[in-house]
Amino acid sequence: MTELPEIEHYRRQLGEWILDRPIERVLLVNERSTDVTPEEFAGALEGRTLLFLERRGTFLIFHLDNGHRLLIALAKDGALYCGDGEEQPPFNAQAEIGFGEKTLYIAGKASVLRLMTVRGLDEVVKTLGPDPFSRQLTPELFVTQLKKRRGALRSLLTGQKLVAGIGPRYADEIAFEAGLLPSVKVQDLNGESAARLYEAIENVLGAAIEAGGSLQTPLYAGDTVTGGYLSQCKVYEREGEACTEEGAKVEKMDVSGKKAYYCPQCQYEQTPVFS
Ligand SMILES: [Zn+2]
Repeated sequence: MTELPEIEHYRRQLGEWILDRPIERVLLVNERSTDVTPEEFAGALEGRTLLFLERRGTFLIFHLDNGHRLLIALAKDGALYCGDGEEQPPFNAQAEIGFGEKTLYIAGKASVLRLMTVRGLDEVVKTLGPDPFSRQLTPELFVTQLKKRRGALRSLLTGQKLVAGIGPRYADEIAFEAGLLPSVKVQDLNGESAARLYEAIENVLGAAIEAGGSLQTPLYAGDTVTGGYLSQCKVYEREGEACTEEGAKVEKMDVSGKKAYYCPQCQYEQTPVFS
């Protein structure tokens, strides 16, 4: 599943291949991935150039040279591949966008590609909480916002309102890093725990971006970077495996109907204070 680190990794990697080059070919394989006809979709993109790549939460946003935007929201099974010449992606592409020698392939049956005006895009992104890496989201603001919330930590982290871009994998890894059980009620967290939670969000997501995220699908031929964080994940989908810190085994719990992975020895009701 693509969460913030996977999309940010894509954003950083793709820039050098697809910016400032005219879009020459557009093929929409899955007509349901957008809200216009394949012809209208191709017509709106062909001949245009991308000036900038932006990420908001898990949305990848292409800034076109006519002021419009192309929003890409990858589905759970979504991925991107950037190929040279005739090179084919390791998946069935839902859409292809060709930039000279490079072709960007988009996977995921339910992935969404939407041409938007700036105003239309604003309507979509304003429903998201702050980006974990926005300068506005200071530790103080985070703690203030957290105090207004109620509910299980796991649900709050994946809810996109407190911060945008976190899904099941990083929610579990963040809770582990903060030393907090996924089931703790955020309204019960003390100041120390709230501060540690903020740090854990920044640290886990930052490390995951640097390591290339957790998607196993390569982004280009010979790619050894993408998915580099998979081996660093401590708890997510590691039930029964020894916790890397203490030797205790990772367990699974149900939080509001969702599976959460955690270590019963390293995670508490409040973040542990070491003297
Ligand atoms: Zn542990």
